[in-house]
Amino acid sequence: MCLLTGAHTNFCNMKLSICGVSYSDFVWNITHGCHKHSPGCNDCWAEAQESHYHPDVNFGETWLRYDKLHQPLGVTDEVSCFIDDTSDLFYEGEADPNKRGVPDSFIDKALDVVELTPTISYLTLTKRVERAKNYFMNHHIPSNLFVGYSICTKAEVKNIDILRQIPTENKWISFEPLLDDVASVDGFSLEGIKVAIVGGEQVHGKTSRKMEKQWVLNIKKACERDGCLFYFKQWGDWSEVGEHKNTKANGHLIDGVAYRQLPWPNEEQQSNSFKNF
Ligand code: SF4
Repeated sequence: MCLLTGAHTNFCNMKLSICGVSYSDFVWNITHGCHKHSPGCNDCWAEAQESHYHPDVNFGETWLRYDKLHQPLGVTDEVSCFIDDTSDLFYEGEADPNKRGVPDSFIDKALDVVELTPTISYLTLTKRVERAKNYFMNHHIPSNLFVGYSICTKAEVKNIDILRQIPTENKWISFEPLLDDVASVDGFSLEGIKVAIVGGEQVHGKTSRKMEKQWVLNIKKACERDGCLFYFKQWGDWSEVGEHKNTKANGHLIDGVAYRQLPWPNEEQQSNSFKNF
C-alpha cells in the first residue's frame, strides 16, 4: 500500500503530485507560464505559485517540461489527474517573442501519453476555448480526456457554444472565481456539459471579490434543469452569509449540504459521503 495515498499503489513509483485541487487526485504539470486573459486572472494563483517555486522563470514565457511527459506511463489505477494547474495548456503566447505559448506539437505529445494511460481521467482547463476548439477540431481526442473551459463573468457565457463544438462528450466548466450572476444571462444552458464546478475567489492576503450565494444557486438550478452534475468547491474568502473570513473556515456547504458530484474518479468522492441534488 502506498504510504502517501493509501490506495494508488502504482503511483508510488511515479513523480506525479497529489493535487491541491479538491476535485482531482493528482496533478501533472507539464508547462509553466501564462498571461492574464480575463477578469478571472486578476489575482492569478498560478503566477504567485510560479514566482515562489521558480523565481528565475519569466511567467509570460512558456516553459515546456519535456522531462515530465513520461510520468504517468505505467499507471493502471483509476484516478483523476489535472493537467497543468499552474498554467494553461492552450496558452497561445503573445506577439512579444519572449512570451511564447504552447505549440500544438507539444500538446500532441501530451495527448499521446493520455492515450497510453486509459485508466487515468485527465482534466484540462483553459480560458482559451477558441484555441482549444481549433486544436481539437483537427486532432483525435482521447476518451479519457475531459476538456474544461473556465468562466468567471457574464461576458464569457456566450463561449459555452464554442466549447460545445469540441467533438467529445467529456466537457466541463469551472466557474471559479465566480464573479457574476452568469446563469442569469439570456439563453444560459449547460446542456451537453458533464459537470459544472463552482467556487468563490481565494486571494491570500488581498481583497478578494465576493461571490453571491444566489449566483451559486442559479447555476445549481441550471444544472438540475439541464442534466449537468454540480460540484461546489468552496465559498472562497467570503462566507455563505457574506462575511469576509478565510477560505478554509468558509468551507463548501450550501445550507449544510455538500454537493460534490463528478464524472471522473476522485479520492475525496470515494471516501466522503455526499448528497445528490
Ligand atoms: S489563464 Fe489561468 S494561469 Fe493563465 S493567467 Fe489566467 S488564471 Fe493565471
